[in-house]
Amino acid sequence: MEHVLERATRFRGQVFPAQSALYERLASDGQSPKALMISCADSRVVPELITQAAPGDLFVCRNAGNIVPPFSQANGGVSSAVEYAVVALGVRDIVVCGHSDCGAMKAFSQPEALQRMPNVAAWLRHAQAAHSVVCSAYHGLDKKAETRALSLENVVVQINHLRTHPSVASAIAQGDLTLHGWFFEIETGHILAFNGETEQFELVVEGRSLPVALSPNRRLAARDFVGMAAE
Ligand SMILES: [Zn+2]
Repeated sequence: MEHVLERATRFRGQVFPAQSALYERLASDGQSPKALMISCADSRVVPELITQAAPGDLFVCRNAGNIVPPFSQANGGVSSAVEYAVVALGVRDIVVCGHSDCGAMKAFSQPEALQRMPNVAAWLRHAQAAHSVVCSAYHGLDKKAETRALSLENVVVQINHLRTHPSVASAIAQGDLTLHGWFFEIETGHILAFNGETEQFELVVEGRSLPVALSPNRRLAARDFVGMAAE
């Protein structure tokens, strides 16, 4: 069987010609992706496939556990990707996408396995709040359901972390950014989306509006007390 990397030799001859006009335009005009997607690095979760995206549509950042370190602790790839996407590219949507059967989330119930992976263990501390929520507030779950709850709560925690980034906070205040929390179910192909108003995940259904974690409304908490007129 052909190795997956060998297919790269076919790309230029067999795939590129059908999209050459698109690539030519992207090369001359530059990129202007509409969304940043932060997903798990899991090989079964393919952001471009899930969203049916073409080249140029999505700015993607992937890592183990679809984690966004909070701003104060961050000077890394995810933080830079977030800042670049919001400030330089002006994306209007950010999606944090978790998934079923996530190895990073399962690692919380296998602490012995993490002993050989100190970097993963340190990285997963950014998901500790989700683990704490599940341990304290969910009861009577079996191991599988517990991992699922953890994966879903982790999406909510990472959205909260996103909001600690100055670029994200200021875009939200100006009403320029919508935040999305998704969960991709590998076995069914379903996407669950977090509804920030009900604080529940909902099944994404074709033809119905997409639930969002945070709508693009201006959010100026001080407005009424600083002599600023309502708009
Ligand atoms: Zn994963």
